[in-house]
Amino acid sequence: MNIILLGPPGAGKGTQAGRLVETRGMVQLSTGDMLRAARTSGTEMGNRVAAVMDAGQLVTDEIVIGLIEEQLDTRTGHGGFIFDGFPRTLAQADALGELLARKGQALDAVIELEVVDDVLVDRIVGRAAEAAAAGQPVRADDNAESLKVRLLEYYKKTSPLIGYYHAKGALTKVDGLGPMDAVEDEIAAVLDGVRTPARENA
Ligand code: AMP
Repeated sequence: MNIILLGPPGAGKGTQAGRLVETRGMVQLSTGDMLRAARTSGTEMGNRVAAVMDAGQLVTDEIVIGLIEEQLDTRTGHGGFIFDGFPRTLAQADALGELLARKGQALDAVIELEVVDDVLVDRIVGRAAEAAAAGQPVRADDNAESLKVRLLEYYKKTSPLIGYYHAKGALTKVDGLGPMDAVEDEIAAVLDGVRTPARENA
C-alpha cells in the first residue's frame, strides 16, 4: 500500500508517518528529511538547496523527483511507501504517478491532514522552542518569517493537489486538529477501508 500524506507545514505529516512506520512496517519517504541530509553532507546539491529551504521556498521539481526516484529504485521488501512532503506541485504529482506505474505500483490513498493556520504557527513555533530547550538543533526554517513563505508556497503550489487527487477519487480528509492518537486512529480507519473516498464523495 502506497500513500501520500498531504497538508501544510505543521499539520503532523512527519509524526503520523513515523507512527505508520512503527505500526505497519511502511517506509517513510520525506523529501524534507532527504534534503536536510543532503545539506549536512556538503554535496553540491545540498549547498544549492540550503538557501532556498531556509527562506521557506520550494526547491526545484527536478531535484526532489530525482531523490524520490532513487528511493523507489533502492527500497524493497516493506509494507509500502508513505510519501511525506512529496508531491508538493502538480508536476511532482504527475511524476510520482509515472514512477509508480513504471514499477507496476499504484497510489492507494491520499490523506489530507486539515489544520487551521493559527494552530500551524503555534505548532511550529512550539517545535522550535522544544528543540532549543532540549539542546537539539532548531530547523533554520522554523521561524515566523520562513513560515509565512512556507504557508504561501503551500497554498499557491501544493493545495491544488487537493483538487487533483479528489478528481482521481483518491482523496480522504482527516481532521488533523485533535490529539495525535486520535489522528492516528482516523488514518488507520482510512487505510483499513473503514472510511473510503468513494463513500465520502458520494
Ligand atoms: P518539510 O520538512 O517537508 O517541511 O520540507 C522542508 C523544506 O524542504 C521545504 O520548505 C522546501 O524548501 C523543501 N522541500 C521538501 N520537500 C519538497 C518538495 N517535495 N518540493 C520542493 N521542496 C521541498
